[in-house]
Amino acid sequence: RATAVPPTTDEVRARVRAALDRVGATVPEGTGLAARTPITGDTLFELRADTAADTDAAIGAAAEAFRAWRTTPAPARGELVRTFGELLRAHKADLAVLVTAEAGKIASEALGEVQEMIDICDFAVGLSRQLYGRSIASERPGHRLAETYHPLGVVGVISAFNFPAAVWAWNTAIALVCGDAVVWKPSELTPLISLAASHLLDRAIAATGAPADVHRLVLGDRAAGERVVDDPRVALVSATGSTRMGREVGPRVAARFGRSLLELGGNNAAVVAPSADLRLATAGIVFAAAGTAGQRCTTLRRLIVHEDVADDLVGRLTAAYAGLPIGDPYDDATLVGPLISDRAADTMAAALEQARAEGGEVLVGGTRVPTPGGAYVRPAIVRMPAQTAIVREETFAPVLYVLTYRTFEEAVALHNDVPQGLSSSIFTQDQREAERFLAADGSDCGIANVNIGTSGAEIGGAFGGEKETGGGRESGSDAWRAYMRRATNTINYSDTLTLAQNVSFL
Ligand code: NAD
Repeated sequence: RATAVPPTTDEVRARVRAALDRVGATVPEGTGLAARTPITGDTLFELRADTAADTDAAIGAAAEAFRAWRTTPAPARGELVRTFGELLRAHKADLAVLVTAEAGKIASEALGEVQEMIDICDFAVGLSRQLYGRSIASERPGHRLAETYHPLGVVGVISAFNFPAAVWAWNTAIALVCGDAVVWKPSELTPLISLAASHLLDRAIAATGAPADVHRLVLGDRAAGERVVDDPRVALVSATGSTRMGREVGPRVAARFGRSLLELGGNNAAVVAPSADLRLATAGIVFAAAGTAGQRCTTLRRLIVHEDVADDLVGRLTAAYAGLPIGDPYDDATLVGPLISDRAADTMAAALEQARAEGGEVLVGGTRVPTPGGAYVRPAIVRMPAQTAIVREETFAPVLYVLTYRTFEEAVALHNDVPQGLSSSIFTQDQREAERFLAADGSDCGIANVNIGTSGAEIGGAFGGEKETGGGRESGSDAWRAYMRRATNTINYSDTLTLAQNVSFL
């Protein structure tokens, strides 16, 4: 179902300009980087891309700022993040306008993305009075053994287009309270939201007297990212994006003994058991599979349904899909906005073609909605005879593959038999089955849910996945430890020197 006709490029540009003005951010007009909108597929502004020398200088300045920031008491660092969080609250709607303009998210999801930024600031402020080390029982009399956490250095944040601001905020709010400086290389597809968010942080930095260069933005494409990856002054590279990107970034950072935190592609599945509440499952599945037009790392891509309930569930899903309002993401009635680009729509079409060649049947969707510009597609459900090659890949578009199973063991085996390991869920009312799914030999993902879809994590938990998803964890829980270096301290407060392991010497 198509909703209102998308706005024109001029209308989007006017909204964007007004939002940027309210935030106070200026657009560095020039050449090298086009700020486009997927709403129409057109260019909004031509921006000046940072040069290699600019990137190097930004890293150098951040490294210098780190020297002062690392000894600023953590609660005072928290004050910067608290001030930033207040600015985010004041400009929530403005930032959401930019998220919609550049990533194509519908209004409620764009606001939700900014809310995540606010939430992680709150979390980080509390964390700034914690950052606990440990005290460990020493084997020696008159000795104390302890672990302390210290700021790490410059954190290079490389982010993807689909969470253009929240992922940066997850990293940056935590890194700043941990005493690190940050250099941000956002997706080349989303420079405007990056400029606005970064400007608000600059305002908070100025208001709290933090070192001006404790955060630097670098606008550019993959080459700018590579510069950050290869620079030995960058202690931690936190990179979010495709598995292809992570495969390049991980070894390069490791080659210089830097640290990396990788948040890469997912191929998330839900198991639907015979006891599942199908009404609840349908709602959870439709949001997880078609929400954000299938462009979340946690998007539900595979449904593993018990054969007894498959027809019933698929009937409910195809009916729900047929009524999904697709179109203008600024329109509150819309649930599915545009794909990021024509190329993404072509990739989706190619995946559907391959699925058909592998024996799949497209049950609903998969076609383009005719619009003057922008890539609007109808989310697709495809029934597959087996977990074929295309099902094992992440296609970054709204395609849900349906597989059936007979035994729980078969469901878990299918579930885990893909290269990625981000998010997973089971819909069941059988407690044993739910617990088995969460157990050591159940789901092999970083996120495993019960009776809720695969997407829409809260910031309080650690976020990330296993296998080709990269193994990184960010956001809540104790993910902050990745942003600090650990020191083990042995303190002898006796007047004798006792060696460990009963060694005697001298
Ligand atoms: P992408 O890999 O094309 O780009 C991501 C970022 O990496 C961009 O800033 C890009 O400029 C940069 N980059 C690309 N190659 C690089 C290289 N060799 N060296 C340094 N930087 C490089 O990803 P995308 O299309 O923007 O985002 C979609 C992908 O991101 C999907 O695969 C999705 O699953 C994944 N994603 C994962 C998470 C997660 O938390 N696991 C979150 C969001 C998105």
